[in-house]
Amino acid sequence: MDLIYRSTRNDNETATASEAILKGLANNSGLFVPTKVPALDVTFDELVKMDYRETAYAVMKQFLTDFTEEELKYCIDHAYDDKFDCEEIVPIVKAGGAYHLQLFHGSTIAFKDMALSILPYLLVTSAKKNNVKNEIVILTATSGDTGKAALAGFADVPGTKIIVFYPKDGVSPIQEKQMVTQRGDNTYVIGIKGNFDDAQTGVKNMFSDTELAKEMNAAGYQFSSANSINIGRLVPQIVYYVFAYARLVEKGVVKAGEEMNVVVPTGNFGNILAAYYAKQMGIPVKTLVCASNENKVLFDFFQTGTYDRNREFILTSSPSMDILISSNLERLIHKIAGESAEKNAAFMASLSSEGVYTITEEMKANLSDFVGEYASEEAVAKMIKKIYEEDNYIMDTHTAVAAQGYAQYVEETGDTTPTVIASTASPYKFTRSVMNAIDPAYDTKTDFELVDELCAISGVKVPQAIEDIRSAAVLHDTVCDKTEMLAEVKKILGI
Ligand SMILES: *Cc1c(COP(=O)(O)O)cnc(C)c1O
Repeated sequence: MDLIYRSTRNDNETATASEAILKGLANNSGLFVPTKVPALDVTFDELVKMDYRETAYAVMKQFLTDFTEEELKYCIDHAYDDKFDCEEIVPIVKAGGAYHLQLFHGSTIAFKDMALSILPYLLVTSAKKNNVKNEIVILTATSGDTGKAALAGFADVPGTKIIVFYPKDGVSPIQEKQMVTQRGDNTYVIGIKGNFDDAQTGVKNMFSDTELAKEMNAAGYQFSSANSINIGRLVPQIVYYVFAYARLVEKGVVKAGEEMNVVVPTGNFGNILAAYYAKQMGIPVKTLVCASNENKVLFDFFQTGTYDRNREFILTSSPSMDILISSNLERLIHKIAGESAEKNAAFMASLSSEGVYTITEEMKANLSDFVGEYASEEAVAKMIKKIYEEDNYIMDTHTAVAAQGYAQYVEETGDTTPTVIASTASPYKFTRSVMNAIDPAYDTKTDFELVDELCAISGVKVPQAIEDIRSAAVLHDTVCDKTEMLAEVKKILGI
């Protein structure tokens, strides 16, 4: 029996895994969720012996039950190969009293590579399985990292086009340079005059535009999403939490069956949701610490039960977490509402019309797996400097939000459970913020001088992704108003 996925907004809308991957988003902006989170069917002893690809297969086969073994292994083997700059794929390094799960060894040096290096293969395989003849158009809004990781994953994949919208003034210079230098005849990159939420709203509107879907179908196109709402993004992210636990067992940090904590620097709530699913699969996770930056809408939510996006949007040094609508939280809301699509849809309607909703006390009681923390800009910078000075380890700004959240959590609770921090980006991706945190005097230097300084003080080799953009030509220079996104898409598709 195949595992069936269901929309968070309509119980009657169901899909197999491959159908859900193809569609990305369910109708009426619902998200697909598994009707039941499957348990792992391997023991901890077996997991300890598996490498990353084997772990990926053990986890993903439980979720993508309509893929054959051959299909799934093909996807995994083509995703987690020498695009990653180390054999382990995801190394673990101890620093500041926690285990940093380095999710940034893929082609764009941020954690989104973990999912976006496999999504194109899952998608093309899903299309084949479902006899789709249309060309697949990937439409994505990015706060910086998704865009480049998706572009890198889809560039020149036959039968696909990829269109990425990013907030023109809301990503780091290196993030922007990475995107606008992207090669590939099927890649399109557009800056919008607006913030990430504007970009995401524009993309969501196009996804639910039925007129547009008809026009596209007539021209031989259909949309799919590479955003973290696609279960083809979410499922591969569960793998590294299972892998991390096995490494802690292997190192003797925990005995098989003993608990670990997980701290995740959070924006759209995709990465931490994957950790939550890993727990439901049987990985002993005690507490999930959801770490926010100064856009602390999630911290307030865990504190009060009210999700309120009506607030100032703050540009921080961790731009990939500058988000006021955490799309993937909807999957958790659906779950704690007793998997009631009706109740969830009412909360989401309130979010969309009023920008706010409040969950019931009963639902709040179902959130005990989570603790929210948030870090100020000042605390983030201090934490980077502290761990550099104490452990000679340099973190990026996003990871530092988590490290600070972890320090606060330990101070508040005294909890000494071994802890994994999801380290979501290489410090080389946010070099200026990182180096300024260590010494503000660095600020007078150019971006690439800072890259060389970072290399000198950390002893960590400059990643190929950074070397590549030192001299690359700008290939994408379109900028549009947030109201012109649809027109730009039509222009690209010639419809
Ligand atoms: C996207 C991103 C995050 C946030 O992850 P979510 O799954 O959106 O919560 C954190 N750090 C970095 C570096 C990212 O790129």
